[in-house]
Amino acid sequence: MKITYEGEDHSGSAHRMLRLTRMDKAVQLTGLSQPELVSFVETLGEPAYRGRQLFGALQHRRLRNFDEITDLPKGLRTRLHEIAGAATLKVESQYTSDDGTRRYLMKTHDNLPVETVFIPEERRDTICFSSQSGCPLQCTFCLTAQLGLLRSLTAGEIVEQIQIALNDAYGIGVKPPRGTNLVAMGAGEPLLNLDELMKALRVMADPQGMHIVPNRVTVSTAGIVPRILELAKTSDRPHLAISLAAPSDELRNELMPINKRWPIDELLSACKVFEKTLKPNERLTFEYVMLDGVNDSDEQARQLANLLNRHNIKSKVNLIPHNPADPLPYRPSSEETVERFKNILESKGIHTYVRRPRGRDIFAACGQLAARQITRNETLVGALN
Ligand code: SF4
Repeated sequence: MKITYEGEDHSGSAHRMLRLTRMDKAVQLTGLSQPELVSFVETLGEPAYRGRQLFGALQHRRLRNFDEITDLPKGLRTRLHEIAGAATLKVESQYTSDDGTRRYLMKTHDNLPVETVFIPEERRDTICFSSQSGCPLQCTFCLTAQLGLLRSLTAGEIVEQIQIALNDAYGIGVKPPRGTNLVAMGAGEPLLNLDELMKALRVMADPQGMHIVPNRVTVSTAGIVPRILELAKTSDRPHLAISLAAPSDELRNELMPINKRWPIDELLSACKVFEKTLKPNERLTFEYVMLDGVNDSDEQARQLANLLNRHNIKSKVNLIPHNPADPLPYRPSSEETVERFKNILESKGIHTYVRRPRGRDIFAACGQLAARQITRNETLVGALN
C-alpha cells in the first residue's frame, strides 16, 4: 500500500510542501522536523502541541515505540500505530571492540544492510553513520564498493542510526555525558543523498531534539563536485572532508574511479570555492588512506604537499591507516611509513594528523561488516574501506 501525506515544512525560509511517500504501511516519523510533525498531527485532527510533544518524545527522549509515549492520549497512540512508524531499522548484529568501539549491522524494513559505528573517546563520542545501503562508487580499497548501490537511506533511517547507537551506549533517552560528533563516513557517498542527509541533520540539530548542531558533523565525500558547490551555498552546512587517497590523477583514477569524472584539479577548484565559506577556525579535511607500497612513498608525500600548496586551500590532512581485509589487494602502510609521510607533509607546511585505528578486532572500517556478511552468504568477494 502506498500512502502519500502532504503538509507544510516550515523549516526553511520559504514554506515548501512536504510530500511523504512510503511504500510500506507507515509514514516514518523519525525523519520529520518539528513543524512537519505538527502538520502531520493536525491532519489527524490533533492540536499543534501534540506534534511538539511527539517530536520531543522521538527526538529528545529517543523513544522508538509509540506505547512508551504515555503523555500522548491512548487514542492517538493507537492511530499512530495504524498509520505511522518510529522504528524501521532493526539491529541484526552488534559487536563491541576491546577499545569500546561498538559496531552495528542493521537492516532496513526492506532487508538492506546499514552499518553504524559508535566510537567513545575521552572528551566526546563519535558516531560514524551510513548515508546509503551499499555504494554506487567503485573505490578499489573499499568493501562496500562490492555491494553496489542497494538504495539511498531516508532521513529517518539516518536519524535512527544515531538514536540506536546513543540508546545502546547510554540507555533510552539518557543524555550523553560527552558531546556527540557525527561523521558521514559509513557506507555510501553522502553527497549523492544530499537532500535526505541535510533533512536528517536539520532534525538532529533541533534544540528540542538531540541538538547535534552542524558544527559537530563532518560529511566525507569521494568528490562529487557539483554537490560540493551546492553544499558551499548551504548556510547550515556541516564540515566537509574529501577522500583524496592519491596525489595524482593517474593513481586516483585507479583507486577512486569517480576521479575520471571529476579529476583532482577540478575537485580542488571546487574545494577552493568551498573554502570561502569556512569559518575562522574551520579547515577543510583531506583524507588519505595509507596503502602499503601504493600511495605512501616519500615522493608521493612531496607530490601531495605540492598539490595542496599549489591550490593553497585552508585545510588539514588526515592520514588514515588502512584496515586490511582479506579479499583486497592492499595492506596497511607501516607505522614508520605513516610517520615519515606525515613529517614530509608537515615540513612543507601541511597540517597533518594520523587517525588512530579503532575497532580493528570487529572489522570497524566502514563497509566491512555488511560486505563481509554478504561475502559469507552470497559468496561475493569484498574489499575494504
Ligand atoms: S570509499 Fe566511500 S565512496 Fe568509495 S566505494 Fe566506499 S563507501 Fe563508496
